[in-house]
Amino acid sequence: MRPFPKRILTFYLVIILTFLVGCQTQVPVFITTSPGSTNTPFQPVHPTATLTPQPTHTPTNTSTPIPTETPMPEPTNTFSPEPTEKTDPPTEEVTAGEVIVPILLYHHVSETIDTQYNVHPDRFAEQMKWLNDHGYSTITIADVARLILDGGELPERPVVLTFDDGYLDVYKNAYPIMQQYGYVGTFFIIGSTVDTTQNLSTKKLTNLINSGWEIGSHSMSHIDLNQGNNWEYEIIGSKSLLEGKLGVPILTFAYPYGLADAAVIRYTIDAGYTSAVGLGSNVTHDKNTLFFLNRKEVKSWYGLDFFEDFMPWTE
Ligand SMILES: [Zn+2]
Repeated sequence: MRPFPKRILTFYLVIILTFLVGCQTQVPVFITTSPGSTNTPFQPVHPTATLTPQPTHTPTNTSTPIPTETPMPEPTNTFSPEPTEKTDPPTEEVTAGEVIVPILLYHHVSETIDTQYNVHPDRFAEQMKWLNDHGYSTITIADVARLILDGGELPERPVVLTFDDGYLDVYKNAYPIMQQYGYVGTFFIIGSTVDTTQNLSTKKLTNLINSGWEIGSHSMSHIDLNQGNNWEYEIIGSKSLLEGKLGVPILTFAYPYGLADAAVIRYTIDAGYTSAVGLGSNVTHDKNTLFFLNRKEVKSWYGLDFFEDFMPWTE
C-alpha cells in the first residue's frame, strides 16, 4: 500500500487544530458584590470535604493565599459595565483564596439600653458616617465566603456589619441609618425568638432581605454549643426554621458567645452552612478560617479612635 503523503497529513492536522481552537469560547463568571444588588439569595456553595478549619477558638492569621483546585477563568476585556447615574464603589477582581475585610459585631443599637453590648444610635450614626467618609462599602458574610471559595468582585474598601441576637432596636435604629449610605448587614437570628415580643418578625426580616441584608442563624436557643449536645436542634433546626419562615437559604452560622470547638465546627460544616463566624481581630480571612471568621465587637464606649485603630484603611 502507498504510504499516506506527509504534506496531506499535515494539511488535515492544521484543519482539525484550527477547528478545535475556534470552538473554545471563554465564558467569564462575574460575581457582583455591590451593596444593594444582593437581593437575590446566594446559591449555596457546599463546602468541600477537603475543608479543614482550625480546631481552635482563635485561628491564626495567615497571609499566604491558599491555592484553589479550580481557579476562576481570567476575565476578558468583554467586561465593560454600562455607565450608570449612581456611582458604584470602585471594585477589584480578586481570586479565590484570601479576602481582607474587617468584620464588625453589634448587638443593640438603642437610646435606652445600658450595657456594653449597646451602641447609642448617635454613636452608630457617627460610625457609619466615618465608614462612608473613608470610602467603605458593605458586603455580607455570604459574600466573604463566596469570595474566599470562588473569587469575584470586591469593593476596594469592604466592611461587614454583623448584628447578633435579632433585636428590634437594630431594625428601628440601625437599619435606617445604614440605608442612608446604601449599607447592608448580616443579622444573626436566634430561631426560637422570631415573631416574639422585642424581637424581629418574619415580616421585618423579609424587609431586610429585600434591602440586601443577609439573615444567618445564631442557633435555636443561644446555648453554649461546646457544653450542650443538642446540636441537631440548635444548628440544623434553626436553619430549617428560618428557611421555612423566610423562604431563602440560610448559609451562615454565628456560634453563641463565639464559642466552638473542633466538633461543633465540623457539625456546622456538615449541616450545610457555607461559613460561620466567631470572635477575633483578624481581618484576613481564608479557607482555614471560613468556619470561624473573626469578628471584632464594637462596644458601647468605643469612639471613632477604635475605627482609626482597627480598620485597615484610614486615610
Ligand atoms: Zn448572641
